[in-house]
Amino acid sequence: MSERQRPYYVVGDPQPSGRSPPPPLRTDSALFLDIDGTLLELAPTPDAVHVDAGVTALLPALARRLGGAVALITGRAMADADRLFRGLELPIAGQHGLERRSADGSLHRHLPSLSALDRLRGVLSQFAARHKGLFLEDKGATLALHYRQAPQLAALVHQTLRAHMTAALAFESGWRLQPGKSILEIKPDGSDKGTAILEYMTEPPFAGRRPVFVGDDLTDEYGFAAVTGARGWAVKVGRGPTSAHFRLRDVSAVRAWLAAMARGEGKARGTTDA
Ligand SMILES: [Mg+2]
Repeated sequence: MSERQRPYYVVGDPQPSGRSPPPPLRTDSALFLDIDGTLLELAPTPDAVHVDAGVTALLPALARRLGGAVALITGRAMADADRLFRGLELPIAGQHGLERRSADGSLHRHLPSLSALDRLRGVLSQFAARHKGLFLEDKGATLALHYRQAPQLAALVHQTLRAHMTAALAFESGWRLQPGKSILEIKPDGSDKGTAILEYMTEPPFAGRRPVFVGDDLTDEYGFAAVTGARGWAVKVGRGPTSAHFRLRDVSAVRAWLAAMARGEGKARGTTDA
């Protein structure tokens, strides 16, 4: 898909909601899964996450049950997500929908003009180098500053990135600051996890199914709004306000819910919801 699709959902401030766990997953679902904090436990740095045999067996089993309609929707670069799940070759949307691989293997990229990012890359890597515990992740079309190991620097990180964005005129040229869990990212406007899901929903084997998105962070609210607008299920992982209607406690609860589906305990197409 070469042109950006205009999203037809509205993202408001997350409100306290989504207190109940989701019903069993139906076989006519299209399943979209965030990675970090949803499928995998968070780690001090993105490289330190542990991909266990349980999850690498679970994903293909789910894909078989759902006719291949399973995709990973992540802020990581697509190549990085592929490295984590080597050999699975799942449909993956990376960098918040800027890059995407369809189920048929075709690649789609919404690459912005990178001159604003080029102006910011050097200055932010110097800033990160001056402060112990900060880590700048360069994903190509997005820059992510991680401060999980230096939470006391959160306010400084936010102030500094905002100041440099203004100085580089990046706000004017269609870039935005996207906060997350111990992370602040500079990313282009126009693509997010919601647009990525809606793009999948126009393609086989996702089209015509009920979209279900599971995620844990602020960036996942875009995906929640998109699936809710398409009469699907939004599932928030962990605490915090959300627009999602359902909630699962943590990564192990997500795994257990998905494993029940993979074992054949999901609802068949046409049965009524709980
Ligand atoms: Mg996450």
